[in-house]
Amino acid sequence: DDAGVPGRVRVAVRLRPRNAEEMTADADFADCVELQPEMVIHASLALLQLKRLKLRKHNWDSETYEFDEVLTEFASQKRVYEVVAKPVVESVLDGYNGTIMAYGQTGTGKTYTLGRLGEEDTAARGIMVRAMEDILADVSSETDSVSVSYLQLYMETIQDLLDPANDNISIVEDPKTGDVSLPGAKLVEIRNHQSFVELLRLGEAHRFAANTKLNTESSRSHAILMVHVKRSVKGRDSALSSESGNHSHKVKSLKPPVVRKGKLVVVDLAGSERIDKSGSEGHTLEEAKSINLSLSALGKCINALAENSAHVPFRDSKLTRLLRDSFGGTARTSLVITIGPSPRHRGETASTIMFGQRAM
Ligand code: ADP
Ligand code: MG
Repeated sequence: DDAGVPGRVRVAVRLRPRNAEEMTADADFADCVELQPEMVIHASLALLQLKRLKLRKHNWDSETYEFDEVLTEFASQKRVYEVVAKPVVESVLDGYNGTIMAYGQTGTGKTYTLGRLGEEDTAARGIMVRAMEDILADVSSETDSVSVSYLQLYMETIQDLLDPANDNISIVEDPKTGDVSLPGAKLVEIRNHQSFVELLRLGEAHRFAANTKLNTESSRSHAILMVHVKRSVKGRDSALSSESGNHSHKVKSLKPPVVRKGKLVVVDLAGSERIDKSGSEGHTLEEAKSINLSLSALGKCINALAENSAHVPFRDSKLTRLLRDSFGGTARTSLVITIGPSPRHRGETASTIMFGQRAM
């Protein structure tokens, strides 16, 4: 198992349970997919785990796809966190960058998976809250710091969800280190669970207000959470990673602590459904193209990484420029594609599955 191996994008698929409407309206029809989460095959002494998804076609045929993980409608939020996010969070605590993204049609559970606050019901907590819990549990309040930015990307414009008047944030790339930063974005230090939940709630309210004003749906924009973790590591760890090897005769405890910086980016991507280019949804052709730009650029980068291509086209969109230092290379990247069971959305479900397959 290559869990957490940097370089390639790990892909999990999550199926949303039928909602009330689908229970009644689609009662006579089978789900458009069937999941095989852990089919175990004994081949001599080897134990092989196949994680497969079967897409049913109209004509009773079916097509089978493999993913790194398959999460059925019964998968708990805790299990989803452990499978999709935990390896990325752990590597961020070790000083690497990482990205967790959710891709899928509107209404299939991207925000449920990433953004649920779970204030009354802790079992309902999504990936953002659980990631912060693990990060806060691991940092020490005196020497370390955790700070957060929360942004929205719509039509190649970045808006600060923590300071919505600031709606033209630019991306700066350090030509030497390749580090990506957003100097204009508000950075808020997080000290405890409650302050993080309040920040997410504030960002969500600003997102709603901004979209009402622009008369757009939030499903058309990407919501991006950036968590910067700075830790000083003492003892054996620092002795291993410290560069002062020529002073190795000194007692370990006299060495200065090593500072490890990691960045976690969590992206609740815009809905993957096709945008009507005829303008019947009120979009001009230019808008429709621009709304799709970051998603299609992301697909191309994922594809390039999967094919080990020398050229990953990060420059093609704001989203991919922003992810450049947290995607591929030494960074760990996890993608969860969310799908619904309804046979009426078979076409959109099939295209979501194909997006996920491009990373494999
Ligand atoms: P998206 O962000 O992809 O548009 P949402 O996360 O808003 O979708 O989910 C749409 C609806 O389906 C919400 O009412 C949500 O509570 C529900 N839902 C999504 N995923 C699940 C799940 N795994 N279990 C139960 N309900 C879910
Ligand atoms: Mg959503």
